[in-house]
Amino acid sequence: MSTALLQFTAAAATDRGRKRPTNEDAFGFSVEDGVYLVCDGMGGAAAGEIASSIAVDELLRLLIASAPDGKTPEPMPARAEQAIAVANEAIYSRSQRNYKLSGMGTTMVGLQVEERRVWVMNVGDSRCYRLQNRMLQQITQDHSLVEEQVRLGRMTRLDAQRSPLRNVITRALGTQSRVTPDIFDLAAEEGDLFLLCSDGLTRELSDPVIESLLVVDQPLEVLCTRLVDAAKKAGGHDNITCILVRASE
Ligand code: CA
Repeated sequence: MSTALLQFTAAAATDRGRKRPTNEDAFGFSVEDGVYLVCDGMGGAAAGEIASSIAVDELLRLLIASAPDGKTPEPMPARAEQAIAVANEAIYSRSQRNYKLSGMGTTMVGLQVEERRVWVMNVGDSRCYRLQNRMLQQITQDHSLVEEQVRLGRMTRLDAQRSPLRNVITRALGTQSRVTPDIFDLAAEEGDLFLLCSDGLTRELSDPVIESLLVVDQPLEVLCTRLVDAAKKAGGHDNITCILVRASE
C-alpha cells in the first residue's frame, strides 16, 4: 500500500427528472475541505426543498468549522455526529415553528475526507458506493422499511425493489428531535471512485448498470452526465442527484 498523499477531484449533477414538478434534492461540496453531501428532501409544498437545502448548508458549514484547521476543531467521528445533530435540530425546529413545514425532513449521505481516510455518513436511503478495481460496492445501508425486511430475511431483494412500501424510510434528518446516523470509516486507495447519490438514480439503475457506466476512463463531469441521462432514459420518476469523488496520487 502506498503512503503518498492522495488528491481528490469531484464533479456533481442534479436533475428534476421527467415526472416531478420540482427538484427537492440538494448537494454541496468543498474539495478543499474534503466535504461532500447529497440530501433528498421530503414534505408537502416547498418543504422538501427547504429541508434538503438547510441540511446541505448547515452540514457544510459545521463540518468545515470543526475540521482540524477550522475554528472549533473536533476529531472524527464526533465531528460528524455533532454536525448531524445540529443540522437535524435546525430542520426540526424550523418545522415546529411553521405548520406549513410540519413533518419535513431529508435524507443525507456524506463524505468527510482526511488524507487517506474517508468517513462515510448517512441517514435514510441516499447511498454511497465505492468503485475499486472496477468493482462497485455499496458502502451504506438504506434506512428503509424494505431494507430492514431484507436484512431480517423476511423479504427478497427483488421483492423489496418491487414493493409499494419501498419509499418508506425509517430514519430522516429533521422529522424528530434526535437522529442516529451510520458512520463508516474507510481507507482510500489510489483510483477509488466514490459515488454519492439520491434514490432517483438507484431506483432507475441497477448496481451492474451503474458499474458499467463508471468503469470507463472519462472526466468525472462526463460520468455524472452519463448517470443522470441513463436514469432519465430509464424513466426519470424522481429527482436525480450524484456526486463523484476520485482519489488519485
Ligand atoms: Ca428521492
